[in-house]
Amino acid sequence: MSKEINRIAVLTSGGDAPGMNAAIRAVVRSAIYYDRKVFGVYRGYEGMIEGDIVEMNIRSVSRIIDKGGTIIKSARSKEFRTPEGRQQAYEQLKKHQIDSLVVIGGDGSFAGAKIFGEEFDIPVIGIPGTIDNDLYGTDVTIGYDTSTNVVVECIDKIRDTASSHNRLFFVEVMGRDTGFIALRAGIATGAIAVMMPEEEMSIEQLINTIDRGAKTRKTSSIVIVAEGEQHGGAAEVAAKVMAQYDHYEAKVTVLGHIQRGGSPTVFDRVLASRMGVKAVEALLEGGTDVMTGLINGKIELVPFTSTFDKRSKLNEEILRISKILSI
Ligand code: ATP
Repeated sequence: MSKEINRIAVLTSGGDAPGMNAAIRAVVRSAIYYDRKVFGVYRGYEGMIEGDIVEMNIRSVSRIIDKGGTIIKSARSKEFRTPEGRQQAYEQLKKHQIDSLVVIGGDGSFAGAKIFGEEFDIPVIGIPGTIDNDLYGTDVTIGYDTSTNVVVECIDKIRDTASSHNRLFFVEVMGRDTGFIALRAGIATGAIAVMMPEEEMSIEQLINTIDRGAKTRKTSSIVIVAEGEQHGGAAEVAAKVMAQYDHYEAKVTVLGHIQRGGSPTVFDRVLASRMGVKAVEALLEGGTDVMTGLINGKIELVPFTSTFDKRSKLNEEILRISKILSI
Protein backbone atom coordinates (compact mmCIF):
# COMPACT_ATOMS: atom_id res chain seq x y z
CA MET A 1 0.00 0.00 0.00
CA SER A 2 1.34 3.45 -0.80
CA LYS A 3 2.23 5.85 1.99
CA GLU A 4 -0.08 8.61 3.10
CA ILE A 5 1.07 12.00 1.82
CA ASN A 6 0.27 14.93 4.08
CA ARG A 7 3.31 17.20 4.18
CA ILE A 8 5.19 17.88 0.96
CA ALA A 9 8.52 19.71 0.64
CA VAL A 10 9.77 21.35 -2.54
CA LEU A 11 13.35 22.39 -3.40
CA THR A 12 15.36 23.61 -6.38
CA SER A 13 18.81 22.10 -6.95
CA GLY A 14 21.76 22.46 -9.37
CA GLY A 15 21.84 25.35 -11.85
CA ASP A 16 18.88 27.72 -11.76
CA ALA A 17 16.60 28.01 -14.76
CA PRO A 18 13.85 30.49 -15.71
CA GLY A 19 10.48 28.86 -15.03
CA MET A 20 11.55 27.22 -11.76
CA ASN A 21 9.42 29.77 -9.89
CA ALA A 22 6.37 28.82 -11.91
CA ALA A 23 7.02 25.18 -10.96
CA ILE A 24 7.39 26.05 -7.25
CA ARG A 25 4.16 28.02 -7.42
CA ALA A 26 2.34 25.11 -9.06
CA VAL A 27 3.61 22.63 -6.44
CA VAL A 28 2.61 24.94 -3.56
CA ARG A 29 -0.81 25.82 -4.94
CA SER A 30 -1.75 22.29 -5.97
CA ALA A 31 -0.64 20.84 -2.62
CA ILE A 32 -2.88 23.38 -0.86
CA TYR A 33 -5.67 22.73 -3.35
CA TYR A 34 -5.56 19.07 -2.30
CA ASP A 35 -5.55 20.11 1.35
CA ARG A 36 -1.96 19.19 2.12
CA LYS A 37 0.73 21.16 3.96
CA VAL A 38 3.63 22.33 1.83
CA PHE A 39 7.15 23.49 2.70
CA GLY A 40 9.87 25.29 0.79
CA VAL A 41 13.42 24.05 1.36
CA TYR A 42 15.84 26.92 0.70
CA ARG A 43 19.21 26.35 -1.12
CA GLY A 44 18.56 22.81 -2.35
CA TYR A 45 20.07 19.87 -0.47
CA GLU A 46 22.47 22.21 1.33
CA GLY A 47 19.51 23.99 2.96
CA MET A 48 17.81 20.68 3.69
CA ILE A 49 20.84 19.53 5.68
CA GLU A 50 20.89 22.84 7.55
CA GLY A 51 17.14 22.85 8.19
CA ASP A 52 16.41 25.94 6.09
CA ILE A 53 12.77 24.92 5.71
CA VAL A 54 9.71 27.20 5.73
CA GLU A 55 6.03 26.38 5.50
CA MET A 56 4.47 27.98 2.41
CA ASN A 57 0.95 29.24 1.84
CA ILE A 58 -0.88 30.32 -1.30
CA ARG A 59 0.44 33.87 -0.91
CA SER A 60 4.08 32.76 -0.48
CA VAL A 61 4.12 32.24 -4.23
CA SER A 62 2.22 35.36 -5.32
CA ARG A 63 3.74 37.33 -8.21
CA ILE A 64 6.57 34.93 -8.90
CA ILE A 65 5.34 33.27 -12.09
CA ASP A 66 6.96 36.03 -14.17
CA LYS A 67 10.31 36.01 -12.35
CA GLY A 68 13.48 34.25 -13.53
CA GLY A 69 15.70 32.33 -11.10
CA THR A 70 14.24 30.61 -8.04
CA ILE A 71 12.82 32.35 -4.96
CA ILE A 72 13.85 29.43 -2.74
CA LYS A 73 17.38 29.58 -4.19
CA SER A 74 19.47 26.73 -5.51
CA ALA A 75 22.77 25.15 -4.51
CA ARG A 76 25.09 22.22 -5.03
CA SER A 77 25.93 20.18 -1.93
CA LYS A 78 28.97 17.97 -1.43
CA GLU A 79 27.67 16.84 1.93
CA PHE A 80 24.48 15.41 0.47
CA ARG A 81 26.64 12.95 -1.48
CA THR A 82 27.61 11.34 1.86
CA PRO A 83 25.35 9.06 3.97
CA GLU A 84 25.99 11.33 6.99
CA GLY A 85 24.83 14.40 5.06
CA ARG A 86 21.68 12.66 3.89
CA GLN A 87 20.97 11.40 7.43
CA GLN A 88 21.16 14.99 8.66
CA ALA A 89 18.82 16.09 5.88
CA TYR A 90 16.36 13.36 6.87
CA GLU A 91 16.45 14.49 10.52
CA GLN A 92 15.48 17.98 9.37
CA LEU A 93 12.54 16.68 7.35
CA LYS A 94 11.44 14.59 10.35
CA LYS A 95 11.42 17.71 12.53
CA HIS A 96 8.75 19.17 10.25
CA GLN A 97 7.06 15.77 9.79
CA ILE A 98 7.62 16.09 6.06
CA ASP A 99 6.70 12.83 4.32
CA SER A 100 7.41 13.52 0.64
CA LEU A 101 9.59 15.61 -1.63
CA VAL A 102 9.49 17.38 -5.00
CA VAL A 103 12.94 18.11 -6.47
CA ILE A 104 13.25 20.63 -9.30
CA GLY A 105 16.64 20.26 -11.00
CA GLY A 106 18.75 18.16 -13.35
CA ASP A 107 19.89 14.54 -13.51
CA GLY A 108 22.42 15.01 -10.68
CA SER A 109 19.67 16.25 -8.40
CA PHE A 110 17.54 13.24 -9.37
CA ALA A 111 20.40 10.83 -8.65
CA GLY A 112 20.61 12.31 -5.16
CA ALA A 113 16.82 12.24 -4.80
CA LYS A 114 16.65 8.57 -5.74
CA ILE A 115 19.28 7.53 -3.19
CA PHE A 116 17.66 9.66 -0.49
CA GLY A 117 14.16 8.35 -1.21
CA GLU A 118 15.35 4.74 -1.01
CA GLU A 119 17.43 5.21 2.14
CA PHE A 120 14.63 6.82 4.13
CA ASP A 121 11.54 5.48 2.38
CA ILE A 122 10.40 8.95 1.29
CA PRO A 123 8.46 9.31 -1.97
CA VAL A 124 10.24 11.72 -4.32
CA ILE A 125 9.14 13.21 -7.64
CA GLY A 126 11.44 15.21 -9.95
CA ILE A 127 10.68 18.14 -12.22
CA PRO A 128 13.24 18.82 -14.98
CA GLY A 129 14.62 22.36 -14.69
CA THR A 130 17.71 23.17 -16.74
CA ILE A 131 18.32 25.54 -19.64
CA ASP A 132 20.50 22.94 -21.43
CA ASN A 133 17.61 20.59 -22.29
CA ASP A 134 20.02 17.70 -21.77
CA LEU A 135 17.69 15.39 -19.86
CA TYR A 136 16.49 12.11 -21.25
CA GLY A 137 12.76 11.46 -20.79
CA THR A 138 11.32 14.84 -21.67
CA ASP A 139 11.08 16.58 -25.01
CA VAL A 140 11.89 19.84 -23.26
CA THR A 141 13.11 20.95 -19.85
CA ILE A 142 11.91 24.03 -17.98
CA GLY A 143 14.11 27.00 -18.90
CA TYR A 144 15.21 25.86 -22.34
CA ASP A 145 12.61 27.89 -24.21
CA THR A 146 13.34 31.09 -22.29
CA SER A 147 17.06 30.61 -22.67
CA THR A 148 16.93 30.10 -26.45
CA ASN A 149 14.68 33.14 -26.74
CA VAL A 150 17.29 35.22 -24.88
CA VAL A 151 20.00 33.86 -27.19
CA VAL A 152 17.96 34.67 -30.30
CA GLU A 153 17.23 38.21 -29.08
CA CYS A 154 20.96 38.80 -28.56
CA ILE A 155 21.95 37.32 -31.92
CA ASP A 156 19.34 39.43 -33.73
CA LYS A 157 21.08 42.49 -32.30
CA ILE A 158 24.52 41.18 -33.23
CA ARG A 159 23.29 40.54 -36.76
CA ASP A 160 22.48 44.23 -37.19
CA THR A 161 26.10 45.14 -36.73
CA ALA A 162 27.35 42.05 -38.60
CA SER A 163 25.45 43.05 -41.72
CA SER A 164 26.60 46.68 -41.57
CA HIS A 165 30.24 45.62 -41.96
CA ASN A 166 32.02 42.67 -43.48
CA ARG A 167 32.06 40.95 -40.17
CA LEU A 168 31.96 37.37 -39.18
CA PHE A 169 30.56 36.81 -35.72
CA PHE A 170 31.30 33.78 -33.61
CA VAL A 171 28.71 33.58 -30.84
CA GLU A 172 29.25 31.12 -28.01
CA VAL A 173 26.16 29.77 -26.29
CA MET A 174 25.63 27.48 -23.30
CA GLY A 175 24.51 23.85 -23.42
CA ARG A 176 27.31 22.04 -21.60
CA ASP A 177 28.08 18.96 -23.69
CA THR A 178 25.01 19.24 -25.89
CA GLY A 179 24.00 21.47 -28.79
CA PHE A 180 20.30 21.94 -28.02
CA ILE A 181 20.48 25.69 -27.45
CA ALA A 182 22.92 26.18 -30.34
CA LEU A 183 20.86 24.23 -32.87
CA ARG A 184 17.52 25.84 -32.04
CA ALA A 185 19.03 29.32 -31.97
CA GLY A 186 20.79 28.55 -35.26
CA ILE A 187 17.51 27.89 -37.02
CA ALA A 188 15.75 30.85 -35.44
CA THR A 189 18.50 33.32 -36.39
CA GLY A 190 19.51 31.89 -39.76
CA ALA A 191 23.08 31.26 -38.66
CA ILE A 192 25.49 30.22 -41.39
CA ALA A 193 26.85 27.36 -39.28
CA VAL A 194 26.28 25.73 -35.90
CA MET A 195 29.21 24.05 -34.15
CA MET A 196 28.00 21.40 -31.69
CA PRO A 197 29.49 18.48 -29.76
CA GLU A 198 27.08 16.04 -31.41
CA GLU A 199 27.97 17.04 -35.00
CA GLU A 200 31.69 17.56 -35.33
CA MET A 201 32.73 20.02 -38.00
CA SER A 202 36.33 20.58 -39.10
CA ILE A 203 37.70 24.11 -39.57
CA GLU A 204 38.03 23.32 -43.30
CA GLN A 205 34.35 22.40 -43.51
CA LEU A 206 33.44 25.58 -41.66
CA ILE A 207 35.58 27.73 -43.98
CA ASN A 208 33.93 26.09 -47.03
CA THR A 209 30.53 26.95 -45.58
CA ILE A 210 31.54 30.57 -44.93
CA ASP A 211 33.08 30.82 -48.38
CA ARG A 212 29.94 29.50 -50.01
CA GLY A 213 27.95 32.16 -48.16
CA ALA A 214 30.36 34.88 -49.34
CA LYS A 215 30.04 33.72 -52.96
CA THR A 216 26.25 33.87 -52.79
CA ARG A 217 26.59 37.34 -51.25
CA LYS A 218 25.27 36.46 -47.83
CA THR A 219 24.92 39.80 -46.07
CA SER A 220 25.84 38.77 -42.56
CA SER A 221 27.55 35.75 -41.14
CA ILE A 222 26.86 34.36 -37.73
CA VAL A 223 28.50 31.15 -36.56
CA ILE A 224 26.96 29.73 -33.40
CA VAL A 225 29.38 27.78 -31.24
CA ALA A 226 28.08 25.53 -28.45
CA GLU A 227 30.34 25.72 -25.39
CA GLY A 228 31.05 21.97 -25.46
CA GLU A 229 32.08 21.62 -29.12
CA GLN A 230 35.36 20.00 -30.11
CA HIS A 231 37.60 23.04 -30.85
CA GLY A 232 37.35 24.62 -27.40
CA GLY A 233 34.85 27.46 -27.81
CA ALA A 234 34.09 30.52 -29.96
CA ALA A 235 37.46 32.26 -29.44
CA GLU A 236 39.36 29.13 -30.47
CA VAL A 237 37.18 28.52 -33.53
CA ALA A 238 37.52 32.16 -34.59
CA ALA A 239 41.33 32.07 -34.23
CA LYS A 240 41.60 28.87 -36.24
CA VAL A 241 39.36 30.19 -39.02
CA MET A 242 41.18 33.53 -39.20
CA ALA A 243 44.56 31.79 -39.43
CA GLN A 244 43.46 30.40 -42.80
CA TYR A 245 40.78 32.79 -44.02
CA ASP A 246 41.03 36.53 -43.51
CA HIS A 247 38.34 37.84 -45.87
CA TYR A 248 36.36 39.04 -42.89
CA GLU A 249 36.91 40.84 -39.65
CA ALA A 250 36.21 38.26 -36.93
CA LYS A 251 34.34 39.16 -33.74
CA VAL A 252 33.68 36.88 -30.82
CA THR A 253 30.78 37.15 -28.38
CA VAL A 254 30.35 34.82 -25.42
CA LEU A 255 26.79 35.22 -24.17
CA GLY A 256 27.45 33.64 -20.75
CA HIS A 257 25.06 33.91 -17.83
CA ILE A 258 22.71 36.30 -19.58
CA GLN A 259 21.23 33.06 -20.98
CA ARG A 260 20.00 31.96 -17.57
CA GLY A 261 18.16 35.16 -16.77
CA GLY A 262 14.99 36.91 -17.74
CA SER A 263 11.29 36.50 -17.34
CA PRO A 264 10.19 33.02 -18.42
CA THR A 265 8.36 32.65 -21.71
CA VAL A 266 4.70 31.63 -21.85
CA PHE A 267 5.84 28.18 -22.92
CA ASP A 268 8.06 27.73 -19.85
CA ARG A 269 5.43 29.12 -17.47
CA VAL A 270 2.77 26.75 -18.77
CA LEU A 271 5.13 23.76 -18.91
CA ALA A 272 6.29 24.41 -15.34
CA SER A 273 2.70 24.82 -14.15
CA ARG A 274 1.64 21.55 -15.75
CA MET A 275 4.63 19.70 -14.32
CA GLY A 276 4.18 21.15 -10.83
CA VAL A 277 0.55 20.02 -10.65
CA LYS A 278 1.45 16.60 -12.08
CA ALA A 279 4.23 16.14 -9.51
CA VAL A 280 1.85 16.70 -6.59
CA GLU A 281 -0.86 14.51 -8.12
CA ALA A 282 1.72 11.78 -8.76
CA LEU A 283 2.75 11.85 -5.08
CA LEU A 284 -0.88 11.65 -3.97
CA GLU A 285 -1.40 8.66 -6.27
CA GLY A 286 1.51 6.78 -4.71
CA GLY A 287 4.19 7.70 -7.25
CA THR A 288 7.89 7.92 -6.41
CA ASP A 289 11.28 7.75 -8.15
CA VAL A 290 9.96 9.40 -11.28
CA MET A 291 10.34 12.68 -13.15
CA THR A 292 7.58 14.57 -14.92
CA GLY A 293 8.37 14.64 -18.64
CA LEU A 294 6.73 16.28 -21.64
CA ILE A 295 6.36 13.53 -24.23
CA ASN A 296 4.50 14.29 -27.45
CA GLY A 297 2.51 17.05 -25.78
CA LYS A 298 1.48 15.06 -22.69
CA ILE A 299 2.97 15.17 -19.19
CA GLU A 300 4.13 11.64 -18.37
CA LEU A 301 6.07 10.06 -15.50
CA VAL A 302 9.55 8.82 -16.39
CA PRO A 303 11.71 6.64 -14.08
CA PHE A 304 14.62 8.55 -12.51
CA THR A 305 17.02 5.81 -13.63
CA SER A 306 16.42 6.50 -17.32
CA THR A 307 17.16 10.20 -16.81
CA PHE A 308 20.73 9.46 -15.75
CA ASP A 309 21.37 6.20 -17.63
CA LYS A 310 20.34 7.49 -21.03
CA ARG A 311 21.36 10.51 -23.06
CA SER A 312 18.96 12.87 -24.75
CA LYS A 313 19.51 13.27 -28.47
CA LEU A 314 19.10 16.21 -30.82
CA ASN A 315 15.93 16.07 -32.86
CA GLU A 316 16.84 14.57 -36.27
CA GLU A 317 14.29 16.63 -38.15
CA ILE A 318 15.56 19.89 -36.65
CA LEU A 319 19.12 18.88 -37.55
CA ARG A 320 18.09 18.12 -41.10
CA ILE A 321 16.26 21.38 -41.69
CA SER A 322 19.12 23.33 -40.14
CA LYS A 323 21.41 21.96 -42.86
CA ILE A 324 18.93 22.69 -45.64
CA LEU A 325 18.29 26.27 -44.55
CA SER A 326 21.85 27.42 -43.87
CA ILE A 327 22.88 27.45 -47.57
P1 ATP B 1 22.39 21.02 -13.59
O1 ATP B 1 21.79 20.36 -14.83
O2 ATP B 1 22.03 22.42 -13.49
O3 ATP B 1 23.85 20.76 -13.41
P2 ATP B 1 22.01 18.91 -11.72
O4 ATP B 1 20.86 18.55 -10.89
O5 ATP B 1 22.47 17.90 -12.72
O6 ATP B 1 21.65 20.30 -12.38
P3 ATP B 1 24.35 18.51 -10.02
O7 ATP B 1 25.33 19.50 -9.52
O8 ATP B 1 24.83 17.38 -10.84
O9 ATP B 1 23.24 19.38 -10.80
O10 ATP B 1 23.55 17.92 -8.78
C1 ATP B 1 22.95 18.76 -7.81
C2 ATP B 1 23.16 18.22 -6.44
O11 ATP B 1 22.56 16.92 -6.33
C3 ATP B 1 24.62 17.98 -6.05
O12 ATP B 1 25.24 19.15 -5.59
C4 ATP B 1 24.50 16.93 -4.95
O13 ATP B 1 24.17 17.54 -3.73
C5 ATP B 1 23.30 16.10 -5.43
N1 ATP B 1 23.78 14.87 -6.09
C6 ATP B 1 24.18 14.72 -7.36
N2 ATP B 1 24.57 13.45 -7.60
C7 ATP B 1 24.43 12.79 -6.44
C8 ATP B 1 24.68 11.44 -6.02
N3 ATP B 1 25.14 10.52 -6.85
N4 ATP B 1 24.42 11.14 -4.73
C9 ATP B 1 23.93 12.05 -3.86
N5 ATP B 1 23.69 13.33 -4.21
C10 ATP B 1 23.92 13.71 -5.46
